[in-house]
Amino acid sequence: MTYLADLFIDGEWRPGGGERFDVIDPADLTVIARFAAATEDDCMAAVDAAANAQQSWAATAPRERSELLRSAYDVLTAEVEQFAEIIVRENGKSWSDAIGEANYAKEFFRWFAEEAVRIPGDYRLSPAGDKRIVVDRQPIGVSLLITPWNFPAAMATRKLAPALAAGCTTILKPARETPLTAAYIVEVLRRVGVPSGVVNLVTPVPTGPLVAKMINRPEVRKLSFTGSTEVGRDLLHACADSVVSASMELGGNAPLIVLPGADMDVTVEGTLLAKMRNGGAACTAANRIYVHSSRHDEFVERMTAELAALSVGPGLDRSQQVGALVSTTERDKVAALVDTAVAEGATLVHGGTSSDKGAFYDVTLLTDVRHGSSITSTEIFGPVVTVVAYDDVDEAVRMANDTIYGLMAYVFGEEREAMAVARRLEAGMVAVNRGVVSDPAAPFGGVKQSGLGREGGSEGILEFLEEKYIALTAH
Ligand code: ADP
Repeated sequence: MTYLADLFIDGEWRPGGGERFDVIDPADLTVIARFAAATEDDCMAAVDAAANAQQSWAATAPRERSELLRSAYDVLTAEVEQFAEIIVRENGKSWSDAIGEANYAKEFFRWFAEEAVRIPGDYRLSPAGDKRIVVDRQPIGVSLLITPWNFPAAMATRKLAPALAAGCTTILKPARETPLTAAYIVEVLRRVGVPSGVVNLVTPVPTGPLVAKMINRPEVRKLSFTGSTEVGRDLLHACADSVVSASMELGGNAPLIVLPGADMDVTVEGTLLAKMRNGGAACTAANRIYVHSSRHDEFVERMTAELAALSVGPGLDRSQQVGALVSTTERDKVAALVDTAVAEGATLVHGGTSSDKGAFYDVTLLTDVRHGSSITSTEIFGPVVTVVAYDDVDEAVRMANDTIYGLMAYVFGEEREAMAVARRLEAGMVAVNRGVVSDPAAPFGGVKQSGLGREGGSEGILEFLEEKYIALTAH
């Protein structure tokens, strides 16, 4: 397959002014494309294009924007295998994870096609009876969308779809590891007829300084970022300079609590999904598993058997269940975390090996993990199950909340007890007796240092809209 590997600015594919960089297949470490690097001129041209298109795009009928998004959904549905293949090639994930992501990603176009025509406003009489208060919602303006490599498709559509539905023009900046999926999505939007300038794609090199320059252009009014908390903090500083509205989906450190009354079949199935989906490279992945000591041995035995049955290999081989990590750097980070955990007293029950032929790390299970050790306070981003035993549910809740993060949490147990624990967990999302929560119709996002704002649901489009109050005299 040949890939689109250029920048997209003002309706045209362009080679960019910088020296191209390699896109690597993590399964065999071969170069699959050389992607265009955007210079400052390219980045400024993208902002100009988006700024010039903003007024006319905001003025298109909601139905028109809706139908373009729906057409993009239809194209991605017809081409879902091609879509998944691009994701596998540059990200390394398994085929089933890639198909899962492709389907999830395209649903954002369908969902926000439906939301585009349902943007609410308000109209009311002031308490004093002297004014009619009209509250209108208007697109916030040019939006910079920055996405990570772990879900290169879904993170792009989860931002593009609401921004376009709201009437904002966009500049998409994908991660350097995974620009090909972004280029394909942008091309689909071009093919269905999204006008020039409304969607632009840049891959700035060097990233940080050029992103800051784009944020500081007065026309840019929104930053929507998904990535690490460290980079998110820097970007919030950059946004402060020109008071840019920021939506932030940052890191997570999701606890998973197994209560004494948990159904072990449901728990093991859900934990496998919560941990192994995307090879553990998800900000929602269960990072720390707190198991009541009365169920500990049974849980470890069942999980070990499940892990032993999982095959790890290239995503293009559709029979493999767990794929590669995105890069050898990521693989080595996971390996180092596991080694440190063992040095800190954890027991390696299964796995613990990496492969030299690709960015593979074996599915791994650690027990005797101490709450507060480095592996429980770092986002693992790999297929590593870490089990901490506990005796008292209050103690489990305290440990679960003992983190700067608050994105996702999981609870397995008898439903009433699990619901009571769910309410006490400091997280934007809690899964009760299930391993996956993501849904385009639900608000995705975190509390504490996991982020600001929500994506998806009816909330997602509000991030790209601003309220305008118009006062009329009441007669
Ligand atoms: P991850 O751990 O997912 O790689 P990062 O925060 O490093 O998270 O990357 C997420 C996105 O942020 C990527 O598109 C990456 O290129 C971009 N990025 C990384 N560093 C910076 C920076 N200093 N300024 C702006 N964007 C950045």
